[in-house]
Amino acid sequence: MESTSQVYGGIEGGGTKFVCAIGDAEGRILTETSFPTTTPGETLRRAAAFFQGWSGPGRLAAVGFGSFGPVDLRPGSPTYGYITSTPKPGWQNAACAPAIEEALGLPVAFDTDVNAAALGEHRWGAARGLDTFLYLTIGTGIGGGGMVRGQRFRGLVHPEMGHAPLPRLAGDAFAGVCPYHGDCLEGMASGPALEARWGAPAGSLPPEHEAWDLEARYLALALAGFVCTLSPQRIILGGGVMHQQQLFPRIREELRRWLNGYVQSEAILERIDDYVTPPALGDRAGVLGSIALGMEAA
Ligand code: ADP
Ligand code: ZN
Repeated sequence: MESTSQVYGGIEGGGTKFVCAIGDAEGRILTETSFPTTTPGETLRRAAAFFQGWSGPGRLAAVGFGSFGPVDLRPGSPTYGYITSTPKPGWQNAACAPAIEEALGLPVAFDTDVNAAALGEHRWGAARGLDTFLYLTIGTGIGGGGMVRGQRFRGLVHPEMGHAPLPRLAGDAFAGVCPYHGDCLEGMASGPALEARWGAPAGSLPPEHEAWDLEARYLALALAGFVCTLSPQRIILGGGVMHQQQLFPRIREELRRWLNGYVQSEAILERIDDYVTPPALGDRAGVLGSIALGMEAA
């Protein structure tokens, strides 16, 4: 029985590094590797070689690929599974999912990195049992994934929540760092935005630094917009910047203050500590979510 069981591959394809893993249907990781993101040819070959090297136990049934983007998720599109217009040199129009599919001869499910992380949280983490929720990562960039009525976000292309406009707080003259928009959410609240504003890497700013109050206020404003548009049952906040645990109570307080009692939900009015939460899978959400994505394709 054990020898014929299926296992699933996951690729967390980031702009800085790729993480590849093989896991079982319970989300137990059996083997894992990571390597820097170089050229598409070299990086995708390395990913494929990792799976080709699998000799069991368990038959590799399919692979899930959660990718940095923007990506093409339109079923039937000739460039389905491609990274499209990324500013990352060399990766424009990279045929990501097709390269893995061809190399392995296995089904490959493809989605954004944040939708994959959201799926991981849905299957094994903080979004279990929910059907409409938001997973936001606050890191080098800001991205949003999740589900509406059990379907992962996808539409015209896919949401780009990090590039949503953000109201500027009174007296704030910081220009923002987004090369496209300046002071969008990512431009004002990502890790690089914190570094540019305060002149030191975000992780080096002490917990009592004034940076965190401002960061919490901006993130809460963005969340208020997402609460009002999506009506998520929970908001999961992950990514490197959210390692600053002291942000959570401040974000919750500011979110509740901004909503001002208007959204009549006990989740917000009485249980906001469960409403805005860290990922239960921590920094493993992406790789586990990619494995969960692979399970869907098997
Ligand atoms: P990526 O977004 O590149 O996938 P991360 O989610 O780890 O990776 O985000 C990296 C960003 O988070 C960097 O801008 C870094 O400065 C910031 N960061 C990492 N660790 C911390 C920390 N402990 N506190 C605040 N910011 C951090
Ligand atoms: Zn932007």
